[in-house]
Amino acid sequence: MSATDDIVLYPGEVLGEECAPIDVIDAETKRLANRMLKTMYAADGCGLAAPQVGVPVQLVVIDVSYDGRKNRNPYVLINPEIVAADGEELVSGEGCLSFPGITVPVARPSHVVVRARDLEGRLMQYEASNNLLCICLQHEIDHLHGTTMIDHLSLADRSEALEAYHEALEAGARPGDVSVGE
Ligand SMILES: [Zn+2]
Repeated sequence: MSATDDIVLYPGEVLGEECAPIDVIDAETKRLANRMLKTMYAADGCGLAAPQVGVPVQLVVIDVSYDGRKNRNPYVLINPEIVAADGEELVSGEGCLSFPGITVPVARPSHVVVRARDLEGRLMQYEASNNLLCICLQHEIDHLHGTTMIDHLSLADRSEALEAYHEALEAGARPGDVSVGE
């Protein structure tokens, strides 16, 4: 069993749930964050939300600077809240560890401000514009509210994406694969 076996694939029921806020940050919260970071790095992902490992609580981990070796710079966000999402909408190709094998075009605001607690309980603020962090923050926080990247697509694009996803799964795609054969 590899760490990526931990990942709940679409259409896992937990991926559609509204996640509960974390009231007390304790040893269990830290264990969950560490388990999620391990899983995210094992799958070469840049973000992972707790429901993606089957736990419907408001916790996400993000590392947009990981290059597959060192230079790790993990962020742990507890009860993250988007306090501003504005700027021009930009379309980017997004992947998701719960949808191995596909990348879909998602339009999102290009500027975001997020407030969250860290593992020490400190209130942190993150601001990002026009970069991977900006996309990642919005994508991961969506997961905490039962929304996945395909929910941003038109019905026609969504069914096309799901068809490609099922083909990728049949071809043996694993979490972290962005297209079949890679
Ligand atoms: Zn995702």
